[in-house]
Amino acid sequence: MDVSDIQQVAVLGAGSMGHGITQVAAMAGYEVTMRDIEQDLVDEGYENIEWSLEKLAEKDRLEEPVETVMARVDTAVDLETAVEDADLVIEAAPENMDLKKDIFGDLDEFAPEETVLASNTSSLSITEMASATSRPEQVVGMHFFNPPVKMDLVEVIYGDETSDETAECAYEFVEAIDKTPIYVRKDVRGFVVNTVLLPFLIESAWMVSEGEATIEEADAAMVHQRGYPMGPFELTDMTGIDVNYHVLAEAGTPIPPALAEPYEAGNYGRKTGKGFYDYEEGEGVSYEAGDGEGFDTLRVEARMINEAARLVGDGVATPDAIDTGMRLGTGFPEGPCRRADKIGLDAVLETLRDLHEATGEARYEPADYLVERVEAGNTGEDAGEGFYEYGEADEREYRDLNATLTDEGLLEIELDRPERLNALSQDLMDEIQHVLETADLDAVRAVVFEGTGDRAFCAGADITGFADMNPADVEVTPVFQTLSSFPRPTLAKIDGFCLGGGLELALACDLRVATEGSEFGFPEITLGLIPGGGGTQRAIRMLSDARAKELVFRGERIDAETAEEWGLINRAVTDDEFDDTVEAFVDDLVSGPPIALRKAKQVMNAGRDQDLSAGLELESQAFGLLLSTDDMMEGASAFMEDRDPEFEGH
Ligand code: NAD
Repeated sequence: MDVSDIQQVAVLGAGSMGHGITQVAAMAGYEVTMRDIEQDLVDEGYENIEWSLEKLAEKDRLEEPVETVMARVDTAVDLETAVEDADLVIEAAPENMDLKKDIFGDLDEFAPEETVLASNTSSLSITEMASATSRPEQVVGMHFFNPPVKMDLVEVIYGDETSDETAECAYEFVEAIDKTPIYVRKDVRGFVVNTVLLPFLIESAWMVSEGEATIEEADAAMVHQRGYPMGPFELTDMTGIDVNYHVLAEAGTPIPPALAEPYEAGNYGRKTGKGFYDYEEGEGVSYEAGDGEGFDTLRVEARMINEAARLVGDGVATPDAIDTGMRLGTGFPEGPCRRADKIGLDAVLETLRDLHEATGEARYEPADYLVERVEAGNTGEDAGEGFYEYGEADEREYRDLNATLTDEGLLEIELDRPERLNALSQDLMDEIQHVLETADLDAVRAVVFEGTGDRAFCAGADITGFADMNPADVEVTPVFQTLSSFPRPTLAKIDGFCLGGGLELALACDLRVATEGSEFGFPEITLGLIPGGGGTQRAIRMLSDARAKELVFRGERIDAETAEEWGLINRAVTDDEFDDTVEAFVDDLVSGPPIALRKAKQVMNAGRDQDLSAGLELESQAFGLLLSTDDMMEGASAFMEDRDPEFEGH
């Protein structure tokens, strides 16, 4: 089956996952039949989809009317009716092997011969499910994350007999519904994301069990020092202590007492009101930024990195797939392979070896891949190679942005951290800096910045980690300055949140065009901070004193219409007009005379900070210089000959 042949999808199960998967497939234009075992359950799933679509429509995040999407959703209780015309079946029934094998046996009987049969299981063997059919090569895992509508990641898992054709079809289907797939090339327990995530909790729980740390210390350190979105205990209270307990029990792995105790007392986390923290009688999650001091974060990260190394070494997943999986599946600020390359694989290996020697525990036994890398001298970024290769500076591969140069000379820079609303991490800022510094100025005639995903241009700076920074070490990144003095016109194409560091980035551009639904603001003050990337200075030069101070002092957001009225942006336009408006701006920039544009930018930026006579002096010097350019001659001839000029920048 080729992905282009998929038209009709069947989803089995209308529960939390089934209805969500049905919804995303229908939103992407597929005809979907959702099946459950009773009419009430199907109806409930159907209503949940409708409710969710209406919410999206309210927030202006649905491209079509709700009814148009709903018209693609059909429901069924009879299995044969649901799957008889399906090109792809996605099973999302309860997590029980016997049940799933029954379902796959029935599918073998009722689904057309070519149909791809997928399971959304989070932990069961794809190979075993496939064995219930006579076509195991057409069975594949397609592990969505909860809730499917929001979560971008899908693990595509090979069973022992899954064919490449089937896996590719599943992978491309995931792309077609606007999600990000990663390949899990072997049917291993926990697949990729849960395998790497588990030690985040378990190692921390051992440390607490051994009296090395408290729950608060572990959570505070991982969040405030290492930038994870939640601490391990806070996270486990959300996902369920029982769920994690069962995963360990089923795998036959020793269970840390710190996890077993609340489990045995029936305290499973938020859902029971109490877990590691007390949400009913206590104050809930209660650590503070400074609590993490002294906690050995490397011990926890080394264990995650070791799992990642095992997966890479065993050919289960590539470093890139693992990192993408962890970022999108768990909101980690960066993946373990990238992080390992920064920490140094030798330091990670040493930590594991010391722990292994001291305890003899199998979980510390270093993965062969890790040992081999270190022995070969590939210890990470500083060595030029680790999990990844770090080429020469100018052939650097970007991880947090996409940069493309069009034939017309437009350098398009897409901030690509949709799972963090494109927030500016240090890595992302370094990458922007690098793109601008190494841009070929003979080829680039203008630059456009935009965000990926459908929610944000850039929602701010990734501030986790700020609290533990030593004021003396704070160095505000040069990226905003590099951008504002970049010798080509720059434009921010803003659709969605444009806040904090994101707004500073936009203000460092020359021009700004936004959709009406976009929001602007400097929330820094609510964190006890002020904008630190030139925001206060650019705002006060660009806006009236009162408006600039209102933005910075109050930390409130303004909508695009207000931003346009205030002069913060050039245009606020409807979604329909957005691309055309930006294109009209960009066409003028890329076809305009490069030297004159550069000079105009230079004298306007420099003159803004000088008195009028100094500014006029700058202008007249530039004017004189432009009179001697070929571009000026071309402009004059084209005007006389009544044609469009072709400027070449000479
Ligand atoms: P759920 O209990 O919310 O929904 C399961 C639905 O399947 C129920 O409505 C049930 O009536 C229905 N069902 C039972 N037998 C069926 C059959 N023979 N045919 C069709 N439907 C049948 O469960 P869920 O959370 O949606 O999980 C479904 C699957 O997705 C499980 O394998 C689970 O491991 C996996 N998963 C869950 C999550 C999550 O966070 N909930 C995340 C990823 C994957």
